[in-house]
Amino acid sequence: MIDMQSARDRLGTQKAQALQRLADLTRDFEAVVAASRDTNADDEHDPEGATIAFERSQIEALARQAEHHLEEIDAALKRLDAGTYGTCEVCGNPISAARLEARPTARVCIVCAASART
Ligand SMILES: [Zn+2]
Repeated sequence: MIDMQSARDRLGTQKAQALQRLADLTRDFEAVVAASRDTNADDEHDPEGATIAFERSQIEALARQAEHHLEEIDAALKRLDAGTYGTCEVCGNPISAARLEARPTARVCIVCAASART
């Protein structure tokens, strides 16, 4: 059996962490943008400009990941409310408690997750 309350607690903790991460990344991004303004770094032949462009794209990628994770968490919370949390979206079997503990946003059981990767 899945303990819905601890699932909700875990998702709540993950959500707080993801929001914090997103806030950190936003601050990093703004710092990089401010630095690029100072160094007139739009010139891609300027080595510093290339570094800043690289940093900016790294931060953007991380922020997209964090946003995606947040969406997954919100979707899991909705499933908790709807009573479908812990049910595999592919085969309809229950997702194991151990898997949900390791990965509270899991939508599919370990069997379906494994077959989706092949
Ligand atoms: Zn399944």
